[in-house]
Amino acid sequence: MTQNPCVHHEDNVGEHTCRLCGKNHCIECIHLGSRICYSCIYKGIIIIMVIMVIFSYVAWYGLL
Ligand SMILES: [Zn+2]
Ligand SMILES: [Zn+2]
Repeated sequence: MTQNPCVHHEDNVGEHTCRLCGKNHCIECIHLGSRICYSCIYKGIIIIMVIMVIFSYVAWYGLL
């Protein structure tokens, strides 16, 4: 066996590689449509929310 285990489940084979972090993930840990793991999707959502908050602050202070 040359395949690495999933980074989250040591018992599962990490046959899918995330496009963002490059880690091995099993089928339970990766979104197959985008080939991005759920931890990267979660981080992306947080980053988008932070950017939206910053933009809304800029918009409010720009208007007032
Ligand atoms: Zn990832
Ligand atoms: Zn897994």
